[in-house]
Amino acid sequence: MTAAGKAYECTKCGACCVAPDISTLGKALGVRCPNLGPDNLCTAYEQRPQVCRDYAADELCERIAAPSLEERVANYLALFGLEARR
Ligand code: SF4
Ligand code: SF4
Repeated sequence: MTAAGKAYECTKCGACCVAPDISTLGKALGVRCPNLGPDNLCTAYEQRPQVCRDYAADELCERIAAPSLEERVANYLALFGLEARR
């Protein structure tokens, strides 16, 4: 549940298409989804899996905010105590 009255807006920062592992897509932690375009928009938007459809901007997006995608991904992983495989 979100805090009353607070709406979170997706800034299309791309972090949620890089940081989490998404089993449906065979995507490992910290690995850029192959469907994520250079502009950080989904190139398979109409065909994207349900898990992507269900994902919505929330408080996390603000907590991981940083100037670069790399930093946002690092913040996301750190927040969950996760580390990308190298
Ligand atoms: S992390 Fe949040 S703000 Fe960034 S693209 Fe995903 S939903 Fe949007
Ligand atoms: S399929 Fe699209 S929305 Fe889903 S993780 Fe990949 S780029 Fe993001």
